[in-house]
Amino acid sequence: MFFHFLNGIASPAELQNVGIDEFEPLCQYLAMPTDLSQLFDNEGAPQMQTIIERWCQHPAITTKMSVENQGNLVRYPLEVNQLIELPQDYSQLINTISLFMCPKSSGSDSRAPTLCLVCGETLCSQSYCCQKELDNDIVGACMAHTYTCGAGVGVFLRVRECQLILLSGKNKGCFFTPPYLDDYGETDQGLRRGNPLHLCQDRYRKLQKLWLLHGIPEEIAHQLESNNSLQTIDWQNL
Ligand SMILES: [Zn+2]
Ligand SMILES: [Zn+2]
Repeated sequence: MFFHFLNGIASPAELQNVGIDEFEPLCQYLAMPTDLSQLFDNEGAPQMQTIIERWCQHPAITTKMSVENQGNLVRYPLEVNQLIELPQDYSQLINTISLFMCPKSSGSDSRAPTLCLVCGETLCSQSYCCQKELDNDIVGACMAHTYTCGAGVGVFLRVRECQLILLSGKNKGCFFTPPYLDDYGETDQGLRRGNPLHLCQDRYRKLQKLWLLHGIPEEIAHQLESNNSLQTIDWQNL
């Protein structure tokens, strides 16, 4: 069909019959040899050699084929995507985040440093300094980040509060149980009690599964529906 609309050449009558072996008439129509190996020998398809050579000389291909990149050219077997690895001890996260500065205002602390659990980037959330424009709307750093990192879906950890936030679709979001628990098996959202917190692999795996199975928008919709107070939060400013 593409060939037809590109060149305006009508397809041969044979191809319009239903139930025939269409491979040969199709190859004929496309001016291709029926034996694929002929594509790569000079007599069968002389123009093919030129196409291959031109493709090999493309700068993007030269970079891909360079020695430094050779390991990355083919990734096989394909690995299942994973959320980032988190430290066992929550205080480690607090320590790391204490060094984080707002990237826009030099030398100042970020009010709500927030870790993207998809790529590991720390963002200066809920603050005017790092707002961005997204399709004519002003949104916070995290919401803007979801568009480059997760096609509009994001999983974030507000480190100073130990609060886990799910975002989707520019103005929707909800909280989710963070994967850090104290010795009594309880979360400490807001870090009010201040007991040492440790990573709970089980909970983190659960979150990972929700993310992998594209369950985040559904989880958000579900929570927004059942909890009115969540609707009053300006998720797009996060
Ligand atoms: Zn990210
Ligand atoms: Zn900032």
